[in-house]
Amino acid sequence: MIRKGQQMRVTRVLQAGVAVAAAVALLSACGGGGNSGNSGSGGDKKLTVGIKFDQPGLGLKTGSGYTGFDVDVATFVAKELGVDAKNINWVEAKSADRESLLKKGDVDLIAATYSITDKRKAEVDFVGPYLVTGQDLLVKAGNTDITGPEAVNGKKLCSVKGSTSADNVKTKFANQVQLQPFDGYSQCLGGLDSGTVDALTTDATILAGLATQHPGKYKLVGKVFSEEKYGIGLKKGDNRKADVAKAVEKFYSSGEWKKAVEKNLGADFKAGEPPALTEK
Ligand code: GLU
Repeated sequence: MIRKGQQMRVTRVLQAGVAVAAAVALLSACGGGGNSGNSGSGGDKKLTVGIKFDQPGLGLKTGSGYTGFDVDVATFVAKELGVDAKNINWVEAKSADRESLLKKGDVDLIAATYSITDKRKAEVDFVGPYLVTGQDLLVKAGNTDITGPEAVNGKKLCSVKGSTSADNVKTKFANQVQLQPFDGYSQCLGGLDSGTVDALTTDATILAGLATQHPGKYKLVGKVFSEEKYGIGLKKGDNRKADVAKAVEKFYSSGEWKKAVEKNLGADFKAGEPPALTEK
């Protein structure tokens, strides 16, 4: 599914119809940001969705809007729930904040490279998986000694607080590596640049997006050592879960899933068929 040395093309497509500034202004005027799935003023349904802001190809805030696979899946689901793209309030959902954002009702849905795990399922509900990837390593382009997870002994790795990537480093490499936790992957990348860390480790999808954003600067090691199944997070017991699952099935059957993979993740992402929904 993910190939060694992959370089993904990140197409910077302006998301048509995402009048973000207007939507945000409108939502704050209506006191949005709460569990805002129902009618706002004028009967327009609204939805607050948590995404990543710094992960090219998945969830990226740009000057003009929001792009990425997670943005596309959430936009499609919102539409099926009766919410227009212009009525989506996009908020940043950093890895460590996802459960609490859902529990507090600060967001309706989360589509933020959010791996379905048993630990998280105890706290929130998921629909998915809608994309499957695995944990990999990103190093500077000239690096020759970090050739795979077996070669991280004595190295400094960075990852992000509250991610499965950081947890995996702790369980798989125990005392062999020094782990530097950051709040987001862009900060982690800064550590790689300055030389305070030797490798950034997280999902191959995220690493490939970062590598594509800075051509020639970094490379993926290309040996995945976990399975990460992305799900859409909902508050536990949210009665929209079945509708969200129906929407994801339609995202698949309409061909939009494949289009979104090609547009955001590039030709090197060996997508194959969409994954079967086990959480629905
Ligand atoms: N998919 C992993 C997770 O959910 C790592 C990526 C992320 O931090 O969002 O923790």
